Amino acid sequence: MDIAENLKQVKNRMEQACARVQRDPASVTLIAVSKTKPIEMMEEAMAAGTDVFGENKVQEITRKRPLLPESVHWHMIGHLQRNKVSQLAGKVDYIHSVDSLRLAHTIEKEYAKIDEMARIFLEVNVAREESKFGFLPEQLMDAVVEIAKLPHIKVVGLMTIAPFVLNPEENRKHFSNLKQLLVDINAKNIDNISMSELSMGMTGDFEVAIEEGATFVRVGTGIFGERTTT
Ligand SMILES: *Cc1c(COP(=O)(O)O)cnc(C)c1O
Repeated sequence: MDIAENLKQVKNRMEQACARVQRDPASVTLIAVSKTKPIEMMEEAMAAGTDVFGENKVQEITRKRPLLPESVHWHMIGHLQRNKVSQLAGKVDYIHSVDSLRLAHTIEKEYAKIDEMARIFLEVNVAREESKFGFLPEQLMDAVVEIAKLPHIKVVGLMTIAPFVLNPEENRKHFSNLKQLLVDINAKNIDNISMSELSMGMTGDFEVAIEEGATFVRVGTGIFGERTTT
């Protein structure tokens, strides 16, 4: 596994996707999804120039965080249980997976305790998959109105995990729908709500996601290779 070479290729493909739609490559952040992967591989990625990592388990973040420099940026991208929020608070730059009002209220409570702002994405199940977490599109507006009132939460944008497909073009409509939801919500001029970020696109479909406006792509396999566990 040549992590440096993989990273170079992913970044190249990101730049080409940006060029196709006249976007500035600096407007898209690559999150290297390091879940299940050892610290040594993360250090290799750092040596190759990335310090933005995505993890899907609180336990893994709390274990790995002290082992890497403080300058590393951590993104919580996995389903978050409310009873784990206290352990996560203050330890990540962003939480991508806020999928219920109750979770948002727990985040508010825990970030109030440490007197910090939580930067969050609302996860949207745009493809309406039974197996997926996230707000359904029609539930989103009411949720945003409620979450906007929470003083220790900043909603930075929307996130989706698109269906697993072999042809990434099949996910284009889901990405463009997520972008449209963001535009529609911003247009309501809700106090405290001005979203600019779209967390969408993974190894199989990040180029299409970028063409449709992704500002964060979450790439694991394409950088670190296949995972043997979840
Ligand atoms: C694992 C994971 C990814 C990365 O998936 P790859 O297909 O390996 O790139 C992205 N987003 C979330 C939420 C994940 O859990």
